Amino acid sequence: MPTSTQLSDEVFIVTGGAGFIGSNLVRLLLRDTNAKIVNWDCFTYAGNRHSLVDVENHGRYQLEEIDITDAEAVMQGMARYQPTAVFHLAAESHVDRSIDGAGQFIDTNVVGTFNLLQAALSWWRSIDKSQDFRFIHVSTDEVYGSLDLGDDAFCETTRYDPHSPYSASKAASDHLARAWKSTYGMPVMVTNCSNNYGPFQFPEKLIPVVILKCLRGDPIPVYGTGENVRDWLYVEDHCRALLRVAQAGQAGETYNIGGNNERQNIDLVRDICAILDELRPHPPGSKISSYAELITFVQDRPGHDFRYAIDARKIKSELDWEPAENNQSGMRKTVQWYLDNQEWWESILSGNYKLERQGIAVTPSA
Ligand code: NAD
Repeated sequence: MPTSTQLSDEVFIVTGGAGFIGSNLVRLLLRDTNAKIVNWDCFTYAGNRHSLVDVENHGRYQLEEIDITDAEAVMQGMARYQPTAVFHLAAESHVDRSIDGAGQFIDTNVVGTFNLLQAALSWWRSIDKSQDFRFIHVSTDEVYGSLDLGDDAFCETTRYDPHSPYSASKAASDHLARAWKSTYGMPVMVTNCSNNYGPFQFPEKLIPVVILKCLRGDPIPVYGTGENVRDWLYVEDHCRALLRVAQAGQAGETYNIGGNNERQNIDLVRDICAILDELRPHPPGSKISSYAELITFVQDRPGHDFRYAIDARKIKSELDWEPAENNQSGMRKTVQWYLDNQEWWESILSGNYKLERQGIAVTPSA
């Protein structure tokens, strides 16, 4: 697979390219490769055209509305675009939603992945085997279950133990992806990453929820006692890792991608409050002097996994990738982005963006 300096007539399909990670990945692939980038997205509530306005007229970018649960459309699309790589990110991704309605998670995450694998297999079988083709299946650390404080972080051989309908559906899709390599030889790679944060994250996830509650002066809801631990990965670091896997990863391998950045939720929330106290201080005479005064503990999510942590040594030693951002640098960039891009999140929070129409409350997820 060519590096950024090589000219190429490559075509990369990114599924779910209008979502949080997908839109960041599309932008990074346009910047760091010469490939044509085709975004397949069907615009669920999480897909957002506004996240890609800056590239929508780019000469190497194309958007196609495809629902990956539509097997025929996926099969035809694969034959039409003849990709050299597929980055598969399209998914239902919110744990709380999976608790309320698991069916859509099975349709998109399991059946949709099956449709893509079948279409990719058919395309891959038709090409000369000296031609490059890669299928990068993007998954989550949640498939590994939950850790206690002293436990070793998840590595690529950790036994699967998913607890929510979301993580169970992702686990099923990971098994399918690996089976297409071991049964048919198709060059599939699986990545399992920790919690992402950064620009363009839909405001139902913990970090944007906290920032926006602060800006609106609303109580900041924190599940349980706030002691749950997550390993936070800056989204651009994740996207660099995905490109690295596509360029240099070995077919059939799994790569865990993490931020080396474990934080308890409550500490993370306090960090965000402190950054905002500095960047958007309260005027003298305000009812509160620090955003941290808005923190409110709310009833915990059922089956809330206690701790996720990624051991990312394999991708560092084999592919020379490690995160560039730490918690402070990445969080500061993220908070600043939400301050600078009010129009983007306002359009989501106002009923314009399908949210209120579907009766969806803005609750934190991590
Ligand atoms: P997201 O919910 O922000 O975006 C998902 C995108 O997929 C949306 O644009 C949506 O419109 C699209 N989509 C959903 N169903 C579709 C369908 N049937 N056909 C076509 N498009 C469809 O998700 P995200 O946070 O960007 O996550 C991307 C991937 O990374 C997912 O596979 C997720 O499981 C994985 N992941 C995310 C995180 C995280 O912290 N966000 C962590 C680990 C793994």
